[in-house]
Amino acid sequence: MVLKLALGIVEYLGTMENELRRLPSVDRVISEERIRQLREIYPHSLVVDLVRQRLEEDRLAITHGSTCPSLDEIVDSICSRLQTLAQSSLRPVINASGVILHTNLGRAPLSREATTAMELVAAGYCNLEFDLDSGARGSRNVHIEQLLCQLTGAEAALIVNNNASAVLLTLTALAKRKEVIVSRGQAVEIGGGFRIPDVMRQSGAKLVEVGTTNCTYIYDYEQAISPRTAALLRVHASNFRVEGFTHSVTLEEMVALGDKHGLPVFDDLGSGCFLDTTAFGLTPEPMVQQSIALGVGLASFSGDKLVGGPQAGVIVGKKLFVDKLKRHPLARALRIDKIRLAGLVATLVHYLKGEALEKIPVWRMISMPLDDVERRARLWAQALGDLAQVIEGETMIGGGSLPGSTLSTRLVAIGEKGGQRNLAQPLAQRLRHNEPAVIGRISGDVLLLDPRSVLPEENDVVLRALSNAVAGLKQ
Ligand SMILES: *Cc1c(COP(=O)(O)O)cnc(C)c1O
Repeated sequence: MVLKLALGIVEYLGTMENELRRLPSVDRVISEERIRQLREIYPHSLVVDLVRQRLEEDRLAITHGSTCPSLDEIVDSICSRLQTLAQSSLRPVINASGVILHTNLGRAPLSREATTAMELVAAGYCNLEFDLDSGARGSRNVHIEQLLCQLTGAEAALIVNNNASAVLLTLTALAKRKEVIVSRGQAVEIGGGFRIPDVMRQSGAKLVEVGTTNCTYIYDYEQAISPRTAALLRVHASNFRVEGFTHSVTLEEMVALGDKHGLPVFDDLGSGCFLDTTAFGLTPEPMVQQSIALGVGLASFSGDKLVGGPQAGVIVGKKLFVDKLKRHPLARALRIDKIRLAGLVATLVHYLKGEALEKIPVWRMISMPLDDVERRARLWAQALGDLAQVIEGETMIGGGSLPGSTLSTRLVAIGEKGGQRNLAQPLAQRLRHNEPAVIGRISGDVLLLDPRSVLPEENDVVLRALSNAVAGLKQ
């Protein structure tokens, strides 16, 4: 018995030695034609490194019982590793998911004017912090402050990296070691792990939650006011809706209470909307200019949600407070870069000119007539032959705005009819592997594609992707 086991081990070690001996040397791999070609593009040391790494992994795998891979397999993997390294994995996709502001897909697509402005400042130098009149140092904020004040009616404005930064900066600069009163129903998580109470703790402000999850009254705020109170905070419940027996306090009531006690209201608007969403059959999204008109101390919002610009955090409000934020050291750490600043200015100019609906992609999508959506859905469905049908559906705004409010749309549905039940997943995968990838949404066994979240300019690309995907399936 013992002898048999020992013989077994000896035999095993013998095979392993054999396999290790078959493993090619570094020189042998490097002399392969395909690797020689790589050495014409990449530095010799990089190629040798990758070869060494791969052979080391093979050696380890063999000692764990694997067999030796062929020379071809080894060369293949080195070529594909170099390709992956040299090619950005970040690439454009077509968003047919029917969620207009999809955070995982990069939120707002930009207008042509915005991307042109970004390209211009990206490729060269610009007067980012340089006053062309005096030749002295300037401030990057001057390029956007007046525009924002004009659009919102605010006294002053400041741009930072994103809205999470705006909330952090506001609370750090104005409420550190003091108390900020917020409704329990607004101490929320807005997705991606961003929890309002956590940010507040980072700022050093003490969060005083008042009311209950579904009901908060103005006297709840009033009872919580103490000499340590720095502000009243409103957070727009951007991704959920409480239904049934609810009561919340209006911004007017909060501002009036704040005035009575000499306390400012900070309004985290989330999306930050300049246009009236009810004109498109949506629920009303709070507008920035309304908050300012009601007299909040500061309001903050994202640049890349309903504003439709690049990632940014916009803070508007009373000069007294904005000035304090500008002077705070954290403002330097959270500042925006020149490229996104240029894109945001160009986006805001669309509102100034009254051309937002025609120029800003997210607003073009929101305002797209249902007939146009339907026509495009039929075109897409045709490309899929008898696999698809056009059905009624809903487009979501997403990105933490208009919770529960949707737009009527027409969807291309694949796998609705019996007999095609298993098509949704393989087709969705084929579309994801298209160049560019086309992203739909899966509901049950059905793949849904929404033309509303796809710009008309991208129609041909989608049609080609659909034909390719179907052709691939039939093979
Ligand atoms: C989206 C959102 C934020 C965070 O904004 P970012 O620009 O993503 O940092 C903060 N507060 C609310 C209410 C939001 O909806």
